[in-house]
Amino acid sequence: MGKYDIVIIGAGASGLLAALTLSKHGKKVLVLEKKSHVGGNCNSYMIDGFQVDTGPHAITHLAEGPLKILMENYFDYLPVFEDYGNYFARTEQHFVKVPSNLKEFAVFDPLPKKDRLLIAQALTKQLTLSTFGFDLTKQSVYDALPKNLSKDTYDFVDSISHFLSGKSMKETSVHRILTGSSFVRDRVTQEQFESIVGKHKKTPVESILRTIIPSEHHASLQDRIYSVSNQFSSLGRLATNKASNSQGYPRKGLKALLNAILFSLPKSVEIKTECEVRKIFVKDGKVTGVEADEIYTADVVIHTGFARDLPSMIEELPQAYIDELNGIVHSKSLTLWLGFDKILDEFNYIGSEIWYKENAYWAMPISNYDSSLAPSGKQLVGFAFAMDEGASQNTEIKKAYETVFTAVPNAEDHVEMQHEQVTIPEKASVTIDGNFAKIRTPVKNLYIAGTDTDSRSMGITRAAYSIIELLGILNEDSNLH
Ligand SMILES: Cc1cc2nc3c(=O)[nH]c(=O)nc-3n(C[C@H](O)[C@H](O)[C@H](O)COP(=O)(O)OP(=O)(O)OC[C@H]3O[C@@H](n4cnc5c(N)ncnc54)[C@H](O)[C@@H]3O)c2cc1C
Repeated sequence: MGKYDIVIIGAGASGLLAALTLSKHGKKVLVLEKKSHVGGNCNSYMIDGFQVDTGPHAITHLAEGPLKILMENYFDYLPVFEDYGNYFARTEQHFVKVPSNLKEFAVFDPLPKKDRLLIAQALTKQLTLSTFGFDLTKQSVYDALPKNLSKDTYDFVDSISHFLSGKSMKETSVHRILTGSSFVRDRVTQEQFESIVGKHKKTPVESILRTIIPSEHHASLQDRIYSVSNQFSSLGRLATNKASNSQGYPRKGLKALLNAILFSLPKSVEIKTECEVRKIFVKDGKVTGVEADEIYTADVVIHTGFARDLPSMIEELPQAYIDELNGIVHSKSLTLWLGFDKILDEFNYIGSEIWYKENAYWAMPISNYDSSLAPSGKQLVGFAFAMDEGASQNTEIKKAYETVFTAVPNAEDHVEMQHEQVTIPEKASVTIDGNFAKIRTPVKNLYIAGTDTDSRSMGITRAAYSIIELLGILNEDSNLH
């Protein structure tokens, strides 16, 4: 039986970020992971000479968001991020940049001109409401749109909604579209961070703005970062926004981000894999430890798996709280990774593309960022689809391949490797009626962290937000310092 200050359940990005930050606040931390490897959805692995990630990833808000604050305060090693590039839309006739400002809307030919104007007006109105502080988390994207648009336009907006929330435009909130498309920026300053967490001695790494993207290698991203460091209003951004501002892809693949966290962990942090936590112990309303391969006692337990799983590990939870957790919704995604025997002209760009006709996909040719992710002269592209949960997995996979080969007919003749992943991208989709878990639970010193505790931003940026909030709450509860 081991005794720890803090036991963390789950070694995904959230669990490991929690372990890193808390150990650097002097805590003795144990991380328990049920799988044989750490990283959760933040990972990469080899398939026939190609290095695939767990789903295509764009790491967002690197210039001033919550991940940057965690990196600058706690990491000993920083990943190098490559400039994300652009988002494109592909149709049978077009391959054009997805509009992220009014000027680009004006020339976005795949949609009828009248629709472009109407969408731009709707966007301006929603951004104005957002600027004046209106809560748009319960306003659906569909309800915010004019009702006389063409089918192509609805398909386009529906696809964007699916990629940003995993759900349709009727279920996705306007808030999600505005934050996910960078019109509303995620920003945490060092002053805000210290007001939440308390005065913190930073790890002496150089500022991520100066070192992570050396300007001689990444001039364009460096320029963008400096340009966005100036505060734009959301409405100002509507005229000038670049959606890819301050987004990056980690050189050497997604696992480079995981490795940066792992290499930064102090030696005192223990991690055990193949160690599923089945029970959380509570005495007199306060957590006392967990049961996995053995019993571990701890002053604090942090669960970073699905919040909805908590009731299966603990008996003492009130029914109203269980009902709240059951109100968290999530979606499934299917990723096809295709390794091509050559670099295809169709995927010769930096960034990602969406196909928004029948069975939409979001695709990223990740070996264009780093050619070492594919064997020499070959190419690796990931195609992500939102899954229809009513349909069988095999049907969805078959349909996905058909879609890719309809969108890019030449691709089929060059497939050398194919690999499929079915995953849950985020533990809570940001829908108009979905719940989020609170970080504090009804049990004293038992906390939840991860993507189902925060509605801000997406993916790893959202996980980073949840860790900053967690640190703040531990601080308030006198469990941090
Ligand atoms: C297809 C796809 C595309 C994505 N695209 C992006 C993107 O573009 N940008 C972005 O930022 N993010 C993206 N993400 C999301 C991002 O990967 C995740 O949000 C992030 O990795 C989640 O980290 P997490 O630690 O909260 O959860 P997870 O990665 O789910 O980690 C939870 C861990 O807890 C473990 N666990 C659960 N229960 C127990 C238990 N009882 N005992 C022990 N261990 C347990 C699990 O095994 C898992 O390892 C994408 C994800 C996918 C799948």
